[in-house]
Amino acid sequence: MKKVIQFDQVEKRYPDGTQAVQKLDLTIEKGEFFVLIGPSGCGKTTTLKMINRLIPISDGTLRIDGKKISEFDIHELRWNIGYVLQQIALFPHMTIAENIAVVPEMRKWSREKISRRVDELLEMVGLDPAVYRNRKPSELSGGQQQRIGVVRALAADPEVVLMDEPFSALDPISREKLQDDLLELQRKIKKTIVFVTHDMKEAIKLGDRICLMKDGRVVQIGTPAHIMSQPANEFVESFIGTHSEKENRPVRDVVAAFPAKAAEGRRIESMETVAAALSLLAEEDTLMVYENGQAIGAITHRTIVQFLGREVQV
Ligand code: ADP
Repeated sequence: MKKVIQFDQVEKRYPDGTQAVQKLDLTIEKGEFFVLIGPSGCGKTTTLKMINRLIPISDGTLRIDGKKISEFDIHELRWNIGYVLQQIALFPHMTIAENIAVVPEMRKWSREKISRRVDELLEMVGLDPAVYRNRKPSELSGGQQQRIGVVRALAADPEVVLMDEPFSALDPISREKLQDDLLELQRKIKKTIVFVTHDMKEAIKLGDRICLMKDGRVVQIGTPAHIMSQPANEFVESFIGTHSEKENRPVRDVVAAFPAKAAEGRRIESMETVAAALSLLAEEDTLMVYENGQAIGAITHRTIVQFLGREVQV
């Protein structure tokens, strides 16, 4: 896979002396859904904003597609990186269509091309263009507004999209729905997404890989299944600790709740625990679940994290 974003010994010191990020080495692959997670103040937002130069780095090198970010024209960089904020940041006096068209307008796309793109994006997130194009943001629900926030970031078809706790201001039901829609959308568009959250449930549901941070440093990076089955230390364990009860459930419950489509994989018996399946999945892509000698279904990384994610008490 092509590497898109590379942090090499990146440091961030704020003018008041706060060391927000220390010796950060990180490679984010093309098309990857990469989640930054950790407690408040651990440096997630700083890390994210260094990517589009909203925050300048103090030391080290940060490259996109092999080119140092300092060498990009700032407009080119910003236009090629979509950005979604926690606060629903639509322009209140502009229509939904105008809000979505901000970056394409700056890039001087033709009127027709912009109009087609707006319709396409609205349809992509299940909002009928005929109904929503000309509405003002205040005429949409919070969830719908944040949906617009997401498609606005995608408007000019950027390769990279940064998302800073985009769903945290929403009620739990809208939040779940937007997470589902974002996963569905990502299956189609395959952007490189860097997503900040402090919610482990959200991280395991969305991330191809998760990067856990603490005090400006990386504690562990891996797939959700890898992090859950092999937490690097007690800090990671405490972050994912809420899963422990679910991990004692038999794997047949995972198959029943989230059936995966697969025909082969390493064998596991239906009454073995989710914890056992997780450790196998650190090595395997797929497990076949057997009961009384018959295969009753399959488990993949995605379905087991869905199981854990859905079941975690928040
Ligand atoms: P997170 O997103 O994980 O909550 P941040 O990246 O926002 O963390 O912050 C990391 C650290 O840097 C925190 O200690 C925070 O207080 C500090 N910080 C963030 N912005 C500034 C700033 N502009 N000036 C000084 N310190 C800052």
